[in-house]
Amino acid sequence: MTIEDLKSTIRDVVDFPSKGIVFKDLTTMIKNGEALQLMSKALGDIYAGKGVTKVVGIESRGFIGGSILAYELGCGFVPARKPGKLPAVTIKKAYAKEYGVDTIELHSDAIGENDVVVIHDDLLATGGTMRACYDLVKSMNPKKIYINFIVELSQLDGRKNLPEDCEVTSLLKY
Ligand code: AMP
Repeated sequence: MTIEDLKSTIRDVVDFPSKGIVFKDLTTMIKNGEALQLMSKALGDIYAGKGVTKVVGIESRGFIGGSILAYELGCGFVPARKPGKLPAVTIKKAYAKEYGVDTIELHSDAIGENDVVVIHDDLLATGGTMRACYDLVKSMNPKKIYINFIVELSQLDGRKNLPEDCEVTSLLKY
């Protein structure tokens, strides 16, 4: 199996969660042991030797690949969560979604100035979710920030909403 073969393990679900959306369902990839292992190694290979100290995973699908990436790199994992879920002191950022506003939170002591951070989510669509998380992580002044996705929906051009000076990688482009 090659990286491109991973695409054949991803299921398209039409009109989910609302009409007109083609949802990329990664559960069919991660239930396949060979595909999960290939995805895990490929994510790790991108950041090997870059001195990454923390992976931030965005709730909730970003927790899966983010934890795997942290394990592969031997570094820590930090959850970026929906409001009211983290138990200690948090910092938060509100951002616009297609309908309405959402908020993302991090523990205020989750990241320090010596950290090299990869922010991971399963999929890049418009980039709004990742941008909010990036701004939050940036406000904690880490040494460096990378951004990573498993899937990128290129036609939506979400990269235009991400900072130009930040290295953005995705495993699979559509
Ligand atoms: P965005 O903020 O527009 O980049 O949306 C990214 C977030 O929404 C990610 O956390 C994805 O899990 C989810 N998402 C958006 N569009 C899709 C899609 N077509 N298939 C699967 N997940 C999606």
